[in-house]
Amino acid sequence: MKTFCGRANPTTGALEWLEEDENYDYHQEIARSRYADMLHDKDRNVKYYQGIRAAVSRVKERGEKAIVLDIGTGTGLLSMMAASAGADFCYAVEVFKPMANAAVKIVEKNGFHDKIKVINKHSTEVTVGPDGDMQCRANILVTELFDTELIGEGALPTYEHAHKYLVQEGCEAVPHRATVYVQLVESKRMWSWNKLFPVHVEAEDGEKIIVSPSEMEDCPGVPSVCDIQLNQMPSSDFTILSDVVTMFSVDFSKPVRSTSTSYRVQLEPVKSGKAQIVLSWWDIDMDPSGMINCTMAPYWVKSTSAFQWRDHWMQCVYFLPNEEPVLQGEKVYLTACRDEYSVWYKLQKARGEEENKAAVRVESPVCRCQAHLLWNRPRFGQLNDQNRTRQYIKSLMKVLKTDSVCLCISDGSLLPVLAHYLGAKQVQYFLMLLFFSKFFKANNLEDKIKIIEARPELLTSSHLEDKKISVLVGEPFFTTSLLPWHNLYFWYARTAVTSHLTSNVTVLPQSASLHMMIVEFQDLWRIRSPCGTCEGFDVQTMDDMIKVRRLKIVSAQVSAKQNETHLGLKKYLWLLKNLYVRQNTIVLVFKLLVLYKVTGFDPPPLPSKGKSHGAVLWMEYHLAADISVNTGLMQISNEKGNCEWNPNCKQAVYFFSSVIESETPLDLPSAVTYAINFNTKTGEIAMDFKL
Ligand code: SAH
Repeated sequence: MKTFCGRANPTTGALEWLEEDENYDYHQEIARSRYADMLHDKDRNVKYYQGIRAAVSRVKERGEKAIVLDIGTGTGLLSMMAASAGADFCYAVEVFKPMANAAVKIVEKNGFHDKIKVINKHSTEVTVGPDGDMQCRANILVTELFDTELIGEGALPTYEHAHKYLVQEGCEAVPHRATVYVQLVESKRMWSWNKLFPVHVEAEDGEKIIVSPSEMEDCPGVPSVCDIQLNQMPSSDFTILSDVVTMFSVDFSKPVRSTSTSYRVQLEPVKSGKAQIVLSWWDIDMDPSGMINCTMAPYWVKSTSAFQWRDHWMQCVYFLPNEEPVLQGEKVYLTACRDEYSVWYKLQKARGEEENKAAVRVESPVCRCQAHLLWNRPRFGQLNDQNRTRQYIKSLMKVLKTDSVCLCISDGSLLPVLAHYLGAKQVQYFLMLLFFSKFFKANNLEDKIKIIEARPELLTSSHLEDKKISVLVGEPFFTTSLLPWHNLYFWYARTAVTSHLTSNVTVLPQSASLHMMIVEFQDLWRIRSPCGTCEGFDVQTMDDMIKVRRLKIVSAQVSAKQNETHLGLKKYLWLLKNLYVRQNTIVLVFKLLVLYKVTGFDPPPLPSKGKSHGAVLWMEYHLAADISVNTGLMQISNEKGNCEWNPNCKQAVYFFSSVIESETPLDLPSAVTYAINFNTKTGEIAMDFKL
């Protein structure tokens, strides 16, 4: 089996796919996946165990043998729970070979090998019969195939197939049912991740407004879900417009249909406002009575105070195709459409029933304006961040002259437009393979901004109409960047175009710095931490697999489904409360004006007692004297670490191989010593921490 693994190459700005053969070491993939977080999710585990015990008892009470099918067994945990609860036999199906191998070891170690058969197949390949993988159909179906969106990992087609071919009619399912809830809100913060707001530019000859092309106004965007920790979202960031309503539910003990469908509910707004966002989450009832319930409901909805932090299931933010004014008490219809793997929403005013019904189309949304393909959600947030834009405006005003010839190197950037309004009267050049020409057209700038569709090393004087570049600008931002320092590709591009620059060229940003903060996490440590035993089962085999790779910053992973680049360890720290600062420092400074000059700094001492779980890393770009754009820590509000992070950027998180714990100020190590090296050939940063 061939596997392709994505890797950003910061020296070329390209995303490369490296082919790995079957001996490829999957430990890294496993370490990055959410298995550890699931094993640490006490609430989930306890409730599964209760649900499984109840299902086994019900089957036994009927005088039947309890035959369990566990689809997606992972570590084998749910099958071991079933076996302990008295199940007669369990078929544990796992498609991912390294996990299936781990499950075999874990089942063996816990003494269940005669009760549990691990089948390394996709469930749709499993056969039933005397010579099949399963001797007979199961009467208990146990699965945990859910993502934040519930159905994004293919739970529906898997259930549909299992009911047709692998389980008996009337089987017991754990969980028994899932219910999806929604709430309508207005939120400038969240809406700024989906639409470009007009950009105001205070130029010398008056205020200019950069507008977006009309296609963007009602573009439905992309269907990928935006999953975030809503529990960490300050309540001031959104206004609730409706009560929480049940959107749809799925009964897993009955045949499930995965074909596209839609569900509609009537809502009565509790407040007038602009409906922009549908917040959504789900809960699962482990048994038919609904007494064993595991919920993702956010803090303002949940009645219990017991709160389980988890990263593997969060909450969903869905963007309506366009914002819709709603009036308190005036009914509206909300429609959820879904296909096999994703959900999207529409809102309609309550006019004629039939008219509304006819208007609901089930096709998945497709971005028509191109912006949603070019800019991901954090990127939209960055472009809408007026404060950030102001820094670019201030610095451009400092460096631009009326006769400046600018070359902008960045993906899908507004910098050329800003430069034009701020006084560079010459034609601007914009070099990048990814651009947004409609944008320049909408602002009548086609003849002022020339897009060069060439890689920097292929730039010729004829592209520049024989002019030399006096101002080279970049945000810098490149869509292929997966880790904060990957935007240093600007530096490589700058080197490639050297021969086209005037001798006294201004480069903006003039330098960049890499910052590091050693931190104690209240919760995030769980995603990389060993768990030893889980509900009494020894899962150390799993810990060993994760530990092997805990020291590495993970490489890139591209999720094709979500159409967005994800890095397991890249995190929105502003949505991660309760992180305690241990040590805060600049580690490297990159002089972008000159070639590859990197300066390192010594680490400051660890200040107080406590734990150190890892390091957070981010970049700061120094645009001009005293003007910079920070992609990480904006401010530490108090020493307990209520930090203010840039909400539109993800930061890198590096976990130490073990937690450093200092009990008293006396036994503190004076510092975490580290070696962080930037390799100018590869553009990668190697890190080594000594604790
Ligand atoms: N049951 C474990 C692991 C859940 S993670 C636990 O609760 O802790 C889900 C697992 O299901 C992943 O390992 C994934 O590889 C596997 N999986 C998903 N769909 C599957 C399918 N249709 N057939 C077999 N394995 C599947």
